[in-house]
Amino acid sequence: MGQTPDFDSPAFREEYHCGQALGSFCSPKGTEFRLWAPTARAVTLRLYAQGDGGACLRQIPLSRQARGLWRYATAEDWDGLYYDYLIAVDGATRSTADPYARSCGLNGARSMVLDLARTDPEGWAEDKAPPPPPETVIYELHVKDFSWDPASGVPEAYRGKFKALCLEDTTLRGDGEHPTCLAYLRRLGVTHVQLMPVFDYGSVDEGGDPAQFNWGYDPVNYNVPEGSYATDPRRGEVRVREMKEAVRALHKNGLRVIMDVVYNHTYRPDSWLERTVPGYYYRHDADGALSDGSGCGNDLASERSMCGQYILDSVLYWAEEYHIDGFRFDLMGLLDAPLMDRIRQALDGRYGPGEKLMLGEPWSAGPTAARAGTVLADKEGLAQMDLGIAAFCDSTRDAVKGGLESAEAKGFVNGGGLDAERLADCVRGWALWPETGVRAPSQTVSYLSCHDDWTLWDKLVLTGKEPHDFETCPPELLRQNRLAAAMLFTCQGHLFLLSGEEFARTKRGIKNTYRSPLSVNRLDWSRAWENRELVDYYRGLIGLRKLLPGLRDKSPRAGERVLSVASPAEDCAVIVLDNAGEGSRWDRLFLAYSAQEDAVSLPLPAGQWEVLADGASGFLWQDPRPAAEAVTLPPVSALILGRR
Ligand code: CA
Repeated sequence: MGQTPDFDSPAFREEYHCGQALGSFCSPKGTEFRLWAPTARAVTLRLYAQGDGGACLRQIPLSRQARGLWRYATAEDWDGLYYDYLIAVDGATRSTADPYARSCGLNGARSMVLDLARTDPEGWAEDKAPPPPPETVIYELHVKDFSWDPASGVPEAYRGKFKALCLEDTTLRGDGEHPTCLAYLRRLGVTHVQLMPVFDYGSVDEGGDPAQFNWGYDPVNYNVPEGSYATDPRRGEVRVREMKEAVRALHKNGLRVIMDVVYNHTYRPDSWLERTVPGYYYRHDADGALSDGSGCGNDLASERSMCGQYILDSVLYWAEEYHIDGFRFDLMGLLDAPLMDRIRQALDGRYGPGEKLMLGEPWSAGPTAARAGTVLADKEGLAQMDLGIAAFCDSTRDAVKGGLESAEAKGFVNGGGLDAERLADCVRGWALWPETGVRAPSQTVSYLSCHDDWTLWDKLVLTGKEPHDFETCPPELLRQNRLAAAMLFTCQGHLFLLSGEEFARTKRGIKNTYRSPLSVNRLDWSRAWENRELVDYYRGLIGLRKLLPGLRDKSPRAGERVLSVASPAEDCAVIVLDNAGEGSRWDRLFLAYSAQEDAVSLPLPAGQWEVLADGASGFLWQDPRPAAEAVTLPPVSALILGRR
């Protein structure tokens, strides 16, 4: 092939789209290498004994097949050897790791031949996700944040590692009494753990200081676990086995596992994908410059068939090989909507409808240069996307606690005011988005905070009285926090919280902590104990939510369950909801929220009511207090009642 072909032309796709499994494959029967490189003139495989350093053992030319595929096969078992490629394109020869690598050496520059069966931990064949929960409550955590704090009780060698996710009975400073980490999550009642990027990323030196920190939104090897989370990043099989062990432990403890996947950009534009097929995998603007809708310097061209195929293959690989139960797509608004639907259909086809969760951010950091006519998976694109793909609802988030435009911007709970109709829109989860085509709460993730931007607690502090003190927890802010939580747990849609939101996690008012030190990012397990009453409030609401079909309903008709909306006083709203459903204990729900400084007396609709949660306790539903005719709503609080 001479000059660069038109990668967007139907003719290119027609001739070169390759449906074969790619990467290297190894078993005792032999080893095979397959690489898609349609523009290459020559491809040479280089083998090494080690994952970094050391001389090349052998060089072997790959042979060209149809559809741009290059291949080499041997009857030898090369499990444990490392490799890379030399690729000659347009007169230049570049070295590259395999974009489809299953594992790699230190820092990911060299790929590894791996017999995956040999990486399975004990009992892996029997590993299964826990049964589908009645509601989705996602807990977002970072592997290093989670167990870095010595108070976690995790042994030092495992802190910040996959291994820490396997410890079932850690306690605060090892006191044997107050659960931390996995034991804490079990008690909290969340149903899904969402792991911030655990594929191999580039911003942390895997051989360097263990206290380096980064969120990890800078992919290097999409199909390999990150080495800094493994006990030995130099031996490629260790990271694979240890991540599987973590998944197995989470499953065994009743938690499903969601991976945060960043298919919208790579760490550097000079990636393995670029070195393998220069120009193919990235979007460029009319001047030939890299598109930057990610704000990270490059955007993957998901609409090109082999790029979309790469993303689809990667998702299916994690689902199959690592038993991952869900995928959270970073900047989903940069990927194309048809690809998201194809992924949904492929997962449903293999595992059953809805068995694997899909969610994503329906936005990007800026405009992107997708091929003309591409429908992106952004808020607008949701109108034509599968109902089984959920998007983060920033409207509810901002309405409850205040927007991101400034630290001072307030929401309902911290005195920003809001009318009752808009609150009802929050309950419906999506209707605040007139610009979207969201059709059902199955398409919505309701949340108050995630790793991005201020934690809920920091936002409450920043909108409160000066001086801003993030460490202490005054009662008035705890009241606001509980009101926000009650609102979240009475919104339809999937539910999501940032780890530690339930114990007033602070990052000291820092908005973007992607590379802040661990002293800022780590989960503070002492604080979790100090704020145990707030934790219990969340715990109660999580338990209650699982009993409320009116809120769990994800169907397109769920919005019709809102029967009435009223504002009996300023900064006060009352919503009555149809809660009929199989096994429901209460046929109606009465939701009342007040940001008022005075108590409000509220008449109740006819019938025998029970108080299920109030501003102080999320657990009243365990022994409900009867109510009839009227209830008093204390200042800055919520009431949740059910009708028998
Ligand atoms: Ca890495």
